[in-house]
Amino acid sequence: MNPEFIEKLKQTVGASYVLTAEEDRLQYGRDWTRTPGIAGAVVLPKTTQEVSAVLNLCTEFKIPVIPSGGRTGLAGAITATERDLALNLSRLNRIDPVDTLGRTVRVQAGVTTQALHEHCEKEGLTWPIDLAAKGTSEIGGNLSTNAGGVRVIRYGMARRWVSAIQAVLISGEVIELNQGLEKNNTGYDLLQLLIGSEGTLAVITEATLKLCPPPIHSRAFLFSLRDYESLNYVYQKVRSAPFILTSFEFFSDKCLRQVEAKLGRNCKLEKRGALFALIDVEVGPYPQEKDKMDQWLSDLLDAGKIEDGLVADSSNDQSEVWALREGITESLQMSGLVRKYDLCVPVKRCADFLKEAEALYSNLKTKSELFVFGHYGDGSPHLNFLNSEGLSPEIFHSEINQFEKELYPLLKKFHGSVSAEHGVGILKKNWVVYSRSPAELSLYRAIKKAFDPNGLLNPGKIID
Ligand SMILES: Cc1cc2nc3c(=O)[nH]c(=O)nc-3n(C[C@H](O)[C@H](O)[C@H](O)COP(=O)(O)OP(=O)(O)OC[C@H]3O[C@@H](n4cnc5c(N)ncnc54)[C@H](O)[C@@H]3O)c2cc1C
Repeated sequence: MNPEFIEKLKQTVGASYVLTAEEDRLQYGRDWTRTPGIAGAVVLPKTTQEVSAVLNLCTEFKIPVIPSGGRTGLAGAITATERDLALNLSRLNRIDPVDTLGRTVRVQAGVTTQALHEHCEKEGLTWPIDLAAKGTSEIGGNLSTNAGGVRVIRYGMARRWVSAIQAVLISGEVIELNQGLEKNNTGYDLLQLLIGSEGTLAVITEATLKLCPPPIHSRAFLFSLRDYESLNYVYQKVRSAPFILTSFEFFSDKCLRQVEAKLGRNCKLEKRGALFALIDVEVGPYPQEKDKMDQWLSDLLDAGKIEDGLVADSSNDQSEVWALREGITESLQMSGLVRKYDLCVPVKRCADFLKEAEALYSNLKTKSELFVFGHYGDGSPHLNFLNSEGLSPEIFHSEINQFEKELYPLLKKFHGSVSAEHGVGILKKNWVVYSRSPAELSLYRAIKKAFDPNGLLNPGKIID
């Protein structure tokens, strides 16, 4: 990388915040998927003014720049080359006091999702975006990917919970979008445009986030089920139940066994079917609401569709059952090379889609293993392939590429999306045509050009 550029970066943020050692360039040049990448250099600014000065330098020296946060992304959206500067926002980690009247909080982009939760909890409020990566993922990353997580069915995705964004354009200009207003119908909504733009349009430095009170009491159910018909049956029953649904997750027995083997966690259910449903609900304050829920549960058990089940009322018991679901991604990561698909189909067709996708996999006759889990209630399953038999990476990838060629047309048949919540990055770029029309993609290119005329911000991500 140009030595004069590096020197000017050091003058801007301080020499110790410009990293050029190979291990740092590797660490910041790739995300959780370990898609191979290495940055030319890494810069760690502390303030919006420093971010602005860095972007200004990138424009002057025509250096491509890749913003990143916690690097837990699952789409290869921070994958760098040696031409690129990795701009990591983690040092921008200020959290302002909660505005309890407006139910908002102003934070910098590098605050972790969990630190935000802990901060707001003290005021009896929460930012309701919850995902297994919360200890490491950052608000800038959550907004830039429009993160979903395990409570989308109740609260929606990250974009619903933002009322202002401060961002820096590639020229270095700082823009303030929406100023925390609840209502603002004055033309195009640029704040919403930045959310989910995966660092390709501007660098988010601060945001005002909307908050809500968490449920007073919650309850979790873990059900062991025979097949997708039973899973669908339970989902229908939950949808017409006399309580508020917060999460409806599912995973296969294979996923559970992986979590038990790799992370030493235990499922207390004795009778195990092929699938599990993990359901979180809000329990109202009145005794009659609990009675209605108990009646609903007993009717459900009488219907004979559930192999085994448990109810978790205490927060300890709830953490224990949730650890089974939340450990899946980590347990697979520990087991070898993984290929991930984060899909969305209309929820009423999710079971049919999964059955057809599994049939495609059976036809593959591959030694790689398929793990199926995810956010069933959103119609958003994750299909993960693990190279468990140690196939050479070339054979593994070529077999999965073969599967992919059949999977995406199937997804199109179901009117699905190639990315439910992880984003496009580079891993799904070739398949965006299955989810977006040519007219939409030509608007994408025009928008990209308007924000970033020289193509310096996270180039090659989402679209070419
Ligand atoms: C165990 C595990 C579980 C997960 N579960 C979920 C889940 O349930 N739901 C879900 O949606 N995701 C999930 N993810 C994926 C990931 O955690 C999310 O995509 C998260 O929002 C990424 O945040 P991050 O800070 O790690 O971003 P990074 O990985 O650092 O970056 C992701 C993208 O955001 C851009 N970006 C980051 N910061 C900025 C910024 N300040 N300005 C502009 N662009 C920026 C990057 O350029 C990149 O395009 C999971 C990941 C793991 C490892």
